[in-house]
Amino acid sequence: MESVPKESSRRSFLKKGLATGVVGSLGLSAFGSELADAVANGPRYSNPSDLKITDIKTAYMRGHGTHMFVKLITNQDIVGYGEAMDAVRGTYGVATGSIGWDNMRQFLVGKNPLDINKIFEQILRRGHFGGAQSGMYVAVLTGIEIALWDLAGKAMGLPVYRLMGGKFRDKIRLYCDTASSSESPEDMAAAAMEVKNKGFTAIKFDIDWAGDPSKQDEFNMTASNGEIERMVKQVGAVRDAIGMNMDLCLDAHGRYDLPSGIQIAKEMEPFKLMWLEEPIPAENLDSLREITRQTKTPICTGENHYLAHDFRKILEKQAADIVMPDLHKCGGLGEGQRIANLANLYYVPMAPHMVASPFGAMAASHCCATVSNFLCLEWHWISKWDQWNELIQEDPIIKDGFIALSDKPGVGVTPDEEAIRKYAVEEAPSFF
Ligand code: MG
Repeated sequence: MESVPKESSRRSFLKKGLATGVVGSLGLSAFGSELADAVANGPRYSNPSDLKITDIKTAYMRGHGTHMFVKLITNQDIVGYGEAMDAVRGTYGVATGSIGWDNMRQFLVGKNPLDINKIFEQILRRGHFGGAQSGMYVAVLTGIEIALWDLAGKAMGLPVYRLMGGKFRDKIRLYCDTASSSESPEDMAAAAMEVKNKGFTAIKFDIDWAGDPSKQDEFNMTASNGEIERMVKQVGAVRDAIGMNMDLCLDAHGRYDLPSGIQIAKEMEPFKLMWLEEPIPAENLDSLREITRQTKTPICTGENHYLAHDFRKILEKQAADIVMPDLHKCGGLGEGQRIANLANLYYVPMAPHMVASPFGAMAASHCCATVSNFLCLEWHWISKWDQWNELIQEDPIIKDGFIALSDKPGVGVTPDEEAIRKYAVEEAPSFF
């Protein structure tokens, strides 16, 4: 039998006392104002054995693309929040729709959220013929999975990393995805130095420029000599500015074909990148393996792959040197841990893609803390840092390019519903 946390016992004693008038007749001041404050403001743990989900609500926000926030409501005084990204547009009915037999709500209401893996597996199996192998179905499930971890942590009075087996590290290293004001090598170098001066130890730039005048054709994916020369100049200027000790990554967004991917990777070898990301589209792992085999530049992929099954294929083929699941769409924190541990069997590091709110960033950080082969976590909001900070109730969580892991129950930070409402997708029903 699960024991009731001390805080819950104390609260229920005082609650009962107030209800029966025992405490009231003494006056709460009889216990001292400090105790009264502690009861009012202290941790609000629940009784885990009797915890049940009573409802699921969602809210959609425009931020870095579309964010889906999940709110799981319970029969006790705790709620769980989750966040999913990118593959969530138009998915309102998938999670919360009113048709009882055709949404994920049916697997949540009445269930104890501590059964995280069981609920996750039930929802996956229910969708076997409905797209549960990837895409929107998995992304929506991801938001729910994170909310389950948040709830479980709050119910047990433990941070999520503790529920996931404990932490290897206290703070999570970020790499800053950086956009320059122009494509000129000088402006890119200046943008890189700005990031370095803010304390970041790793940086990423995009090298695919749709407007490059050297580009010969809108649809053909071959990089011209002019495009490759432009990339070399840009990356050279950035590397000269930041020096060799700051890690540098490049993202090609899957815009090139195989011969161009090989050529770009080889041209980048002198710059000693931490990685070149998606030189070709995500789907053909045999082609990606060709690039990985032919270059010294580490190759990274994964933000467009889902569930551990997709990563098993990448790893078995040795198609990439680094895997980068997006923990807000690949299946969630538990699946992220499974992916990292699988990658670790191949001595492959994990560097998650991440464009979520600070709530989502802290949720991802819990997963990253629990695996030995974590490399670094993306952060993509430098041009909208103030808006990003607004999205949680707590103080800013990034300091000198790191996120210090929260020790509070659950994820440890709380989405600010007022702030999210400011940027809400108004067409979508919301939990506010
Ligand atoms: Mg990318």
